[in-house]
Amino acid sequence: MLEIFNVSRHHTNSAIAKAVKSLSQYGISSVVQDRFIDFLQNQDERFLFHVNPHLIADRLQLAEREALNLLVVALKEGIVSLNWDIQCPKCLRVDLALEKLGDIKTTHTCPCLDCRHTHESDADRQVRVAFSIDNRLRSLSPEANDPAFRDRIDAHYGVVSGHRLLTLQMFRELFPRETIPPNESLLIRQVTILFTDLAGSTSLYNEKGDPQAYSLVRQHFNFLFAIVDEHNGAVIKTIGDAIMATFTSSDDGVKAAIAMQAKMRDFNRSFASENQQLILKVGVHTGPCICVNLNDRSDYFGTTVNTAARVQGLSKGNDIVFTASSRSQSFAIEDIDGYIYEESSVILKGLSDPISVLRMIAK
Ligand SMILES: [Zn+2]
Repeated sequence: MLEIFNVSRHHTNSAIAKAVKSLSQYGISSVVQDRFIDFLQNQDERFLFHVNPHLIADRLQLAEREALNLLVVALKEGIVSLNWDIQCPKCLRVDLALEKLGDIKTTHTCPCLDCRHTHESDADRQVRVAFSIDNRLRSLSPEANDPAFRDRIDAHYGVVSGHRLLTLQMFRELFPRETIPPNESLLIRQVTILFTDLAGSTSLYNEKGDPQAYSLVRQHFNFLFAIVDEHNGAVIKTIGDAIMATFTSSDDGVKAAIAMQAKMRDFNRSFASENQQLILKVGVHTGPCICVNLNDRSDYFGTTVNTAARVQGLSKGNDIVFTASSRSQSFAIEDIDGYIYEESSVILKGLSDPISVLRMIAK
């Protein structure tokens, strides 16, 4: 018996090692691969069933974003499965029955027979993501499902919300069509939305001709996408020369906007004349919205999105306009070198009340 067990264990271990080594194609370093192999081969089964990504980040010594990127590429390669779990706000039990994002509906009813509470599927508070080892790689015994163990881990590390995974660029890139069902919506309590656009792009296209102008626009898209990703955000879509990106934290959104304008200044230094330069306009706003399925992709709708677009419309170029709702909690914007500030109160089209906006203008 022991021999059969050892043979099967050996087979599982080599399958895990082979699968994880395939992650080199995504740029996962061999050091991280080795730690991940050790984790998947040797951890107690409870660590491999609906496990909190923060626990994996801790064990593999990775930042949250690095761990989520690793898990998403591992999902793509069939090493792990992704679990969209929903916690009932009344009895606090977690429903593990949903197998994919496409199973989430606008409202959720707690499966506990003594609760049956119906609540909104709130992507910030109730919906959380977890990962399990794919059962084709290692099958787990029923003991792997230990709710008390998971509760202790979640209390210690904090959960990763569904909203956070929807805001991971790697997830959107590898699973562009993974979204909620049509006609359903997911409540997002707080999202920071950043819109950019290029000023005077019509004259740029006129002056340089379409292919050369588009090549410049393409280059600017490439670095804006990279900056959004580095700041824990995701590009939801491009609209002409504009992008719409989302962040779970307003600090990340404002820092991304500052990094974008710094990068634009470097980019523009390579041009001989001023009329060849790309002028970036940026607006940032924070508030609640809904995530919906539009043409089989996740998109965001609501007053917050419309307001963010109008705030971007207040930007004149080489500046950043953001609302009081996006004002940083953790760093003083006034301390950032190279900018002067204007604060004003404006009434945006379609809104009845004035809102306070801050404009950072590069000196
Ligand atoms: Zn319940």
